[in-house]
Amino acid sequence: MIIEPKVRGFICTTAHPTGCRVNVANQIAYAKVQQKKLSSHSAISPKKALIIGSSTGYGLATRISLAYTYQASTIGVMYEKEASGNRTATAGWYNTAAFESFAANDGLYAQTINGDAFSREIKDETIAKIKRDLGKVDMVIYSLAAPRRTMADGTVFSSVLKATTDTFVSKSLDLRHNTIEEASIPTATEEEIESTIKVMGGEDWAEWIDALVAADAIEGNAITVAYSYIGPELTYPIYKEGTIGHAKEHLHKTANLITKEYQQRGIHAYISVNKALVTQASAAIPVVPLYISLLYKVQKELGTHEGCIEQINRMFTEKLLIEKPDVDKNGYLRLDDYELDSKVQEQINATWDKVTTDNLKDLADIDGYWDDFYTMFGFKLSGVNYTEEVDTAMSIPSIS
Ligand code: NAD
Repeated sequence: MIIEPKVRGFICTTAHPTGCRVNVANQIAYAKVQQKKLSSHSAISPKKALIIGSSTGYGLATRISLAYTYQASTIGVMYEKEASGNRTATAGWYNTAAFESFAANDGLYAQTINGDAFSREIKDETIAKIKRDLGKVDMVIYSLAAPRRTMADGTVFSSVLKATTDTFVSKSLDLRHNTIEEASIPTATEEEIESTIKVMGGEDWAEWIDALVAADAIEGNAITVAYSYIGPELTYPIYKEGTIGHAKEHLHKTANLITKEYQQRGIHAYISVNKALVTQASAAIPVVPLYISLLYKVQKELGTHEGCIEQINRMFTEKLLIEKPDVDKNGYLRLDDYELDSKVQEQINATWDKVTTDNLKDLADIDGYWDDFYTMFGFKLSGVNYTEEVDTAMSIPSIS
């Protein structure tokens, strides 16, 4: 079938297998170059990693970095759909099929579990695989971005993207028409805040670590990292002070709890505060796509723009896996350092008030935003012939 992008607002309902493969190959090429640059200052080198949320965005980049910069064996957990009938598989499915095939060719162990990471069943299945194939893991990355969480008793909690103090009225990019609109983001109820914390907070991360420790499937000196975002004041009402910010605050507290609880064993939990980037998760947050397209414009001009793979490689090679991890006063790894640079933020603040539908193309990197968006689903990659028929069915060696 000839696959074309079908974009509905902030989501694309199709994905291109060849394009996703090229996207993964490009990230692998970057990670391999970084491997050559690794020097003796990289004190720690993870060998057996578990990545929860491994198929797209930051989690995929993490898996690629660990495998190709550090030669680590990786087990990934994801929630993706394979192709059926006229429907293509999801991008994360194709990414993972490609990653596993590259890893097999390069003699790297890579296995994937597809299912709900929140569930006990998937935790048990993952742990059984770790014990069978790797014995124990020495690194656990928590990179889930999920819309909902189903509890063991069937209760479903949903993550909502709302303000928490006042209704937040702001400029926003209407992704359907590329126009600047005024978005009004309502205030969440207490229940909605709690529900978002259940989904995107740290409870499930801690449950994973507890389960791994209980099963003796994690090394004594293991490192675990969860990804977070803080952002600039401009987006505080929808992010840092919004429902999602409350969940992230819970995640941050969980890092301290995990480190404290497993201090004797030497397990250390970190928060990595990453940069805002176009991913399936961030595209869904109101106001954020406009901010990202202004950020891209400024950072590309300054030469400090990074994508997921560059961010994650820098996290490992320059912040985390060095003699003494480079953390801020709260203990966080700050990969948002270039984003929050005052020069960058001053320029964004100056353009924020001026940006309109008419000057959007000049003031914001709207093309860069959409390029990243399409790339995520395997479209618009150079070297791919999109007029060619492709087979949508693609198996993931470790799954089917
Ligand atoms: P993403 O949507 O690209 O990836 C989410 C991953 O989670 C995918 O692998 C998906 O398969 C998996 N997943 C979702 N629900 C699952 C479930 N129930 N069970 C198993 N797997 C499931 O998102 P992303 O932007 O890479 O986000 C990853 C983390 O990084 C999040 O914590 C996010 O808050 C954080 N972060 C993102 C940004 C950004 O701008 N994108 C910035 C900083 C931090």
